[in-house]
Amino acid sequence: MDLNDAPEELAFRDSVRAWLRDNLPEELSDRALGYDDYTREDLLRWHRILARQGWIAPSWPKEWGGTDWSPVQRYIFEEECGYAGAPPLIPFGLAMCGPVLIRFGTPAQKQRFLPRIYNGDDFWCQGYSEPGSGSDLASLKTRAVRDGDHYVVTGQKTWTTLAHFADWIFCLVRTGAADEKKQEGISFLLVDMKSPGITVRPLELMDGGREVNEVFFDAVRVPVDQRVHDEGAGWTVAKFLLGHERMNTARIGTSRRELERLKALATRQAKDGRPLIEDARFRDKLTRLEAELTALSITNLRFLDQLRGGRPPGPEISMLKIRGTEIQQRLTELAMLAEGPLAATSGLARHYCNFRKTSIYAGSNEIQRNIIAKLALGL
Ligand SMILES: Cc1cc2nc3c(=O)[nH]c(=O)nc-3n(C[C@H](O)[C@H](O)[C@H](O)COP(=O)(O)OP(=O)(O)OC[C@H]3O[C@@H](n4cnc5c(N)ncnc54)[C@H](O)[C@@H]3O)c2cc1C
Repeated sequence: MDLNDAPEELAFRDSVRAWLRDNLPEELSDRALGYDDYTREDLLRWHRILARQGWIAPSWPKEWGGTDWSPVQRYIFEEECGYAGAPPLIPFGLAMCGPVLIRFGTPAQKQRFLPRIYNGDDFWCQGYSEPGSGSDLASLKTRAVRDGDHYVVTGQKTWTTLAHFADWIFCLVRTGAADEKKQEGISFLLVDMKSPGITVRPLELMDGGREVNEVFFDAVRVPVDQRVHDEGAGWTVAKFLLGHERMNTARIGTSRRELERLKALATRQAKDGRPLIEDARFRDKLTRLEAELTALSITNLRFLDQLRGGRPPGPEISMLKIRGTEIQQRLTELAMLAEGPLAATSGLARHYCNFRKTSIYAGSNEIQRNIIAKLALGL
């Protein structure tokens, strides 16, 4: 196993870094923690800069604008963007609906939606979770009843990230009979957020930010040609999409950047007349975290080496989600510790609160552990 960048990968890293230096607008580059730090326009602006460069959807097939990069190049690109403090790319169109359409969409659906996702013309959100149906997603109750060439959708989604920015939502809905096995009778629909009968209500979070919403559907009419894959085949689509979602949660480059900021903060802050970074207990915590981040990055490289050899990672990919999010949370905890009471006013406390979400979304870390136990370890 070779964990080092090959010479051509090093050259690629340098070229990405140089491009980011020249093209990442300074006013967008230092807010890289949560969605709430950006307006819809900020997020779309960065999206469109990358689209113009041809780098917005590296993993898509070339005919739809993909870059043909190797998995290692894709990782290097993501790592460098995170390290440069680039705004997050909203995954719902690019990393979720796009791959679903590429895999299961009809030619007409691909033609209609993919270029608009690519160019940042449409903002998407994800309508999976419902009250009482998060970890147990297959128990979802939002119902779609066929009426001629439409479905009539009634129900509620919740925790819908950035629904207040979105033009479109992709939804899992129940189209089958009530007595079916719960994974059966689910369908995957694309719904225009401007459809009559949709109401978006914000959920107030403890950090005071506006990020997630409830979305209500009251007899919303959705054309049948906006169903992806067969009626009743939604669970197959759902599982495919969740696999993609988990590949994107480690955020190693962003954590590296946050670690450096933490070190700089601990160098500025004083404790007992000396810089905090010289305090043995603080240094111990910091060093452990750095070691864990290095270990995570090596684990990630092991997966990439596997991919380089043509073997896609299996359920053990959940390790990246668990460890990556634990490290992101730990970084916010240490930053709070370093800044002390000032954290309440500097914004750090808000990030600390906001980052509790990382171990819950994209399948909670407990659920990821269950996946590893059952599917990777066979327990
Ligand atoms: C900030 C944020 C953004 C989100 N964005 C979206 C979005 O855009 N679209 C969307 O569809 N969803 C979104 N979600 C929802 C997210 O996917 C769910 O919150 C998550 O799946 C957990 O479901 P739940 O909240 O219903 O909790 P529950 O499933 O009720 O779980 C509660 C607790 O019990 C644990 N638990 C549950 N079942 C088991 C089990 N079998 N074994 C061990 N422990 C278990 C969980 O780990 C958790 O700690 C978001 C959530 C958050 C917090």
